[in-house]
Amino acid sequence: MKLMVIGCGGVATVAIHKCCENPVFTEIMIASRTKSKCDALAEKLAPKTSAKLTTAVVDADSFDSLCRLMKEYKPHTVLNVALPYQDLTIMDACLECGANYVDTANYEAENTDDPEWRAIYEKRCKEKGFTALFDYSWQWAYDEKFKAAGLTALLGTGFDPGVTSVYTAYALKHYFDEIHYIDILDCNGGDHGYPFATNFNPEINLREVSSNGSYWEDGHWVETKPMEIKREYNFDGVGMKDMYLLHHEEIESLAKNIPNVKRIRFFMTFGQSYLTHMNCLQNVGMLGTTPVKFEGREIVPIKFLKALLPDPASLGPRTVGKTNIGCIFRGIKDGKERNIYIYNVCDHQECYKETGAQAVSYTTGVPAMIGTSMVASGTWSGAGVFNVEEFDPDPYMDALNKYGLPWQVDENPVLVD
Ligand code: NDP
Repeated sequence: MKLMVIGCGGVATVAIHKCCENPVFTEIMIASRTKSKCDALAEKLAPKTSAKLTTAVVDADSFDSLCRLMKEYKPHTVLNVALPYQDLTIMDACLECGANYVDTANYEAENTDDPEWRAIYEKRCKEKGFTALFDYSWQWAYDEKFKAAGLTALLGTGFDPGVTSVYTAYALKHYFDEIHYIDILDCNGGDHGYPFATNFNPEINLREVSSNGSYWEDGHWVETKPMEIKREYNFDGVGMKDMYLLHHEEIESLAKNIPNVKRIRFFMTFGQSYLTHMNCLQNVGMLGTTPVKFEGREIVPIKFLKALLPDPASLGPRTVGKTNIGCIFRGIKDGKERNIYIYNVCDHQECYKETGAQAVSYTTGVPAMIGTSMVASGTWSGAGVFNVEEFDPDPYMDALNKYGLPWQVDENPVLVD
């Protein structure tokens, strides 16, 4: 099966490593903006895989550039691990060229000052009640087109969204008649030794964390100020950490796809140093996405900041400690209340030894490969646009154990109040 991977950053590096271990992928093209990165990765992996690796340069913001390459290579499936800004262009190119589409993050507009985008965004904020800059409406709107083309688009197969959504489908299939409460807990207990750095793309990361929080309750969204809701939790493998409620994209799809759910919340851990740096950068305007004039030229503050911060891909050798990501479910089985916690613990240095990347890239790249392999092998099939929780979770859960992200079930977890 011919796969085209778009992007060659931290997540892509792990996803491609893992694709090379999975015999379903016989030919893999690595295509990205900077071809030298694709060449270096292909050179490193070629001796270790039977898959035929090729590389190419592509501008994923350009429909024409994508179509030129896809018409020549004819991929069965395209894995988009570039940035969420490119989701729609890559989906359009997949429709044009007859390829299935897979990604790990929902669409986000790069230019949030574009009046056309802003008008739609503001209408959505009023109608839906949350103000995050990203939502699924843009990609769900492609459902009819993918159905008509007989193609599959699989959205959000990273860890969160991705594995957390598959955990939910698995819990519903095997442990509950109804799930009423879902708390998604994302803990990174890793230490990279820098005063401030982000574990994945700084622009995407800082925009997410500095936005309002929100959660789903009784059929509607409840918005909070950034970092307004804080809890402490004692994570297996990591220890006690502060965690904060954030808006997160899987809340939107789980609210749609999990019947009878009453509340879905998402918490992420942050240390005080990260929050102090982020608040300071926000207060001085460094997280801005609107271009400003500087010495006769325009610069976008957050892009300039990205150039100053450590490249997330360079954190691998320095990061020690573990991540622990999972979901606590509360619901009903055979008329009785039940609580289940499904989670994975992942060690930064073990990930680095295996792939050269730290655990945040690893925990996203492995499920990116697994979701792609579900589509590529036809294990998950169907025409249209899907989120991962809409398919049978069992083969995906087996693959998590096989490809480096084993999970555990705690049937008596400490709950979050
Ligand atoms: P990186 O910034 O490390 O990598 C992005 C890659 O995309 C780079 O290789 C970059 O090229 C390439 N790229 C960017 N723009 C273009 C373009 N216009 N045309 C072609 N290539 C382009 O990001 P990450 O690897 O950290 O993240 C990748 C994706 O994973 C993001 O969408 C992120 O939101 C998502 N993610 C999802 C998570 C989940 O759990 N679901 C968790 C973490 C991340 P260049 O090398 O030239 O910069």
